[in-house]
Amino acid sequence: MNKKDWKNTFALLGNLAGKHTDVLVCLVLLSILQAVRPFIAVILTGTLVDAVYEGADMKALFGYAALGVGGMFLMAVTESITIMFFNRKLEYMQEIQGLPLNKKSMQMDYEYLEDVEVHGKRERIEKFGGWSLMAITLSRLNRLITATVTVVMAIAVVFPMFIRSNHSVDRGFVGSWLMSVLFLAVILLLVWVEFKAGGFFNGKVAEVRKQISGHEARSKYYLDILAGHEKQKDLRICKQQSLYEKEFEDIAFHMKKAVDQMAHFNVLDMFTQQSVSAFTGFLVYIFAGVLACMGIISIGNVVTYAASILKFTDAVGRTAYFLNRLKQNAVFAGDYVEYMNLSQRKHEGLIPVEKRRDGRFHVEFDHVSFRYPGSGVYVLKDLNLEFEIGEKMAIVGKNGSGKTTFIKLLCRLYDVTEGCIKVNGIDIRKYDYAEYCDLFAVVFQDFQVFSFPLGENVASGSEVDARRAEDALERAGLGERYRRLQEGLNTSVGKEFEESGVTFSGGEKQKIAIARAIYKDAPFVIMDEPTAALDPESECEVYAGFDKMVGDKTSIYISHRLASCRFCQDILVFDKGKVIQRGSHEELEYQEGLYKELWEAQAQYYAS
Ligand code: ADP
Repeated sequence: MNKKDWKNTFALLGNLAGKHTDVLVCLVLLSILQAVRPFIAVILTGTLVDAVYEGADMKALFGYAALGVGGMFLMAVTESITIMFFNRKLEYMQEIQGLPLNKKSMQMDYEYLEDVEVHGKRERIEKFGGWSLMAITLSRLNRLITATVTVVMAIAVVFPMFIRSNHSVDRGFVGSWLMSVLFLAVILLLVWVEFKAGGFFNGKVAEVRKQISGHEARSKYYLDILAGHEKQKDLRICKQQSLYEKEFEDIAFHMKKAVDQMAHFNVLDMFTQQSVSAFTGFLVYIFAGVLACMGIISIGNVVTYAASILKFTDAVGRTAYFLNRLKQNAVFAGDYVEYMNLSQRKHEGLIPVEKRRDGRFHVEFDHVSFRYPGSGVYVLKDLNLEFEIGEKMAIVGKNGSGKTTFIKLLCRLYDVTEGCIKVNGIDIRKYDYAEYCDLFAVVFQDFQVFSFPLGENVASGSEVDARRAEDALERAGLGERYRRLQEGLNTSVGKEFEESGVTFSGGEKQKIAIARAIYKDAPFVIMDEPTAALDPESECEVYAGFDKMVGDKTSIYISHRLASCRFCQDILVFDKGKVIQRGSHEELEYQEGLYKELWEAQAQYYAS
């Protein structure tokens, strides 16, 4: 463990201070009890042997036994209660491990969510599978503190052996200070060998683990795919089973090899530890026995000292082992701390968004260029355009021309790389972000409908205005289907959590997402390919009802299907991150350019 590892571990534990201080108190108390209790038995045995040897009466023996056993009993009871509390807390942490991470991921700048490095951190934190990082760290720290306190206790108990005050006996070389120091040096050397061997083999195991982490990630990815029926559709139709089987065989091969290697190192580790321990034990008993024979220490001391020295060597080994395990945790603790401390890069202004009664907003893209973080390629290049509230604007263009990116910039999911976007003449970065977000209701291509009640999906919250939600569903074209739902707005979307839940079709889900945008009643309504999952009839319904749906709001309608956009007065044609044409359908239809090309290519599929 280096300084950084400790810093990260303490920073991780720092999250417990205040809210869960009791678990930290438990940790320390439990560790001390676990370390001290075994020494009472050792000291008691030594004391009783000495008492018997010295001919103590029954009353005294009874007194020693009652005191020692009583003390151990009290400590055992306290330890059991503390363990119970500690384990309950660990399980609780297990349950809530995702909460702070999820909260952070909902609050961090959107651009972090698409950052591979940030993703990697999150994956590594969650790699503990069923166990939470916090719970594992606490549990390993518990073992480490126990082992360390055992070392300290052993030194405290054995120390008097080296300061033998009985001057009346002739010590000889065996009883001399030099011998004590030599003996201590040999013991410490053996401990050092055990410590180093433990570190070496643990390091080897960690190396193997690191090598297989890629295979583990692959395995997790495939298992995720195979666990869900949704994702298995392609697999079955395209007969990809053999591909997956081959992948699994490959993963299994590497895993088996790694497991064998780890077992090999673990056995070598165990063998070294046991051999060194046995040899240490042999030396300790011989040395203590000889000292007792010479009358330098008592018979009882032989028991106490020998047992304590063995506890010492064992605890040093365990200290090394758990320091190593904690070091492995510290890497993840570092990821956790860095993830939770990701700073807000996006500038958040304070200017409140003007609440205009007339709802008039003027939007201007002023020489806007943009490239995604970490990418050198400009997705939008020197974009200049203006539009007013109340207009219906369509954005058309081939896939990858920058349409969705344009919307992401307008909604400030990303900030522009160059230039600026202004709303009512003010750079949007200067507005209060939460207020600015309220301006937009967006249905993205990859919209999300969650396994919550239908009403909460539409209202995006647990407080649902039933009349408004029903009206939104009606306007989104889901009225008839809604009326057939027995539980109305309380209907669970999907069957993940409720047997009685309803599985909606892709088109119906898209209508729920549209209803959500209508419910929000924001001045800007943006729809990115809103009819992609709809059947032609529903698509027609959406066009026909679009006016009703968006009323006098500014609406931006993105589609690569030109026929879907004819009802918009203002059509922008995107190509390679630039607006290359702008006008109404009637104007663009006959103008030489991309629009005409696309229109003619697509016209055969649509009735004009
Ligand atoms: P459209 O909506 O017109 O299909 P997009 O705006 O989604 O196009 O994408 C424009 C370009 O930006 C594409 O080349 C795409 O690969 C790239 N792109 C989109 N998202 C990212 C991202 N998160 N990181 C890097 N490049 C991206």
